[in-house]
Amino acid sequence: MELDIIKREDPQVGELIEKELERQQNTIELIASENFTSEAIMAACGTVLTNKYAEGKPHKRFYNGCENVDKIEELAQERCKKLFNVGHANVQPHSGAQANMAVFLYAVKPGDTVMGMDLSNGGHLSHGSPVNFSGMYYNIISYGVDENGCIDYDEVEKLAEEHKPKLIIAGASNYSKIIDFKRFREIADKVGAYLMADIAHIAALVAAGVHPSPAGYAHFITTTTHKTLRGPRGGIIMCDEEHAAGIDKAVFPGLQGGPLEHIIAAKAIALKEASEPAFKEYAKQVVKNAKALAQGLMDEGMDIVGGGTENHLMTLDLRKFNKTGKDIANVLEKVGITANKNTVPNDPQSPFVTSGVRLGAAAVTTRGFKEEDMVEVAKIIASAVTASDNEQALKNLRERSLKLCQKHPLYKDMRH
Ligand SMILES: *Cc1c(COP(=O)(O)O)cnc(C)c1O
Repeated sequence: MELDIIKREDPQVGELIEKELERQQNTIELIASENFTSEAIMAACGTVLTNKYAEGKPHKRFYNGCENVDKIEELAQERCKKLFNVGHANVQPHSGAQANMAVFLYAVKPGDTVMGMDLSNGGHLSHGSPVNFSGMYYNIISYGVDENGCIDYDEVEKLAEEHKPKLIIAGASNYSKIIDFKRFREIADKVGAYLMADIAHIAALVAAGVHPSPAGYAHFITTTTHKTLRGPRGGIIMCDEEHAAGIDKAVFPGLQGGPLEHIIAAKAIALKEASEPAFKEYAKQVVKNAKALAQGLMDEGMDIVGGGTENHLMTLDLRKFNKTGKDIANVLEKVGITANKNTVPNDPQSPFVTSGVRLGAAAVTTRGFKEEDMVEVAKIIASAVTASDNEQALKNLRERSLKLCQKHPLYKDMRH
């Protein structure tokens, strides 16, 4: 990272970036949607590609001088198609939410009925929340999860038959079970709906074969590239050839202007990394680490929604301690653990307070944490919950989490 150059030009911004580097190095990152990219990926984001306008598709651009970015974007597309075994990939969406928006724009009309998972049950804002465009312009029917945090597929089927949606969304931001894409497709076929699989959270697990793939079941697959997939911030849409032209048109000119070719180059690198054997090991370790964390927490007397996890994340249920997600997320920050408050199924608290904390294992796995480290993390979390008012105890826990960070250094050769 060219931190020295930034600090010379703009010390204020440079020093804040340096502080952020130190924060990432010295805290345990359990936010389930975050990760640490390779230095090559970060470097690509800071290249001359940021200077280039390239509206359109490779070889069909509205500007000249695109011969290099054309090849970069094609590399990203080809690598994505191969990795996820799909017919077409649009690598231009600036984010996961914009990838989803493009599918809405292509597949449904304002006022049409769309089914998605309810936000407070683990769905994403862009799956029909009333405060998001998806909830404002479409007739949203939401499905949820049961007490064990499982999707009730019979209930989804019943709702679909009753409301006849044009689009069904399978995918979530806080769901710790395997998603049955085959069953979702059967339900979609029954009512003549399109199926969109949003694999933003589980993309790496799908790429590595650790979670069943929606390829062959979903008409559209959307993802972010910066969560488990460990690339730059951004989105991707995948589909069959049949929908390729329509999806491309929805992204540009439908929603976006010029694509971010520096980010697309970084996506290409991430997709290359994701096709290598070491990535498969990483994805497997993510699941092992998540399971070790869940088990460790339960061994310490904590409750996990659904009694464990089948993927990279889980929700700590704090109801029996009479503590809120908001308070405990702040306590965890004091002991050097970053996580976010999250609702539990049928949460008695508001979404701003909540009774749960979402915990993910992807970022710590990237920096080298193994099962025994996750057990120590579990012990730190459990002690922080029970000793949340004891400042000295929290200080000691902060020391323990710092030790774990020092055991697994992050970006240690980064110049600063
Ligand atoms: C994170 C997420 C998104 C949105 O991604 P952004 O890049 O933040 O817009 C969409 N869908 C799901 C399921 C997500 O978890």
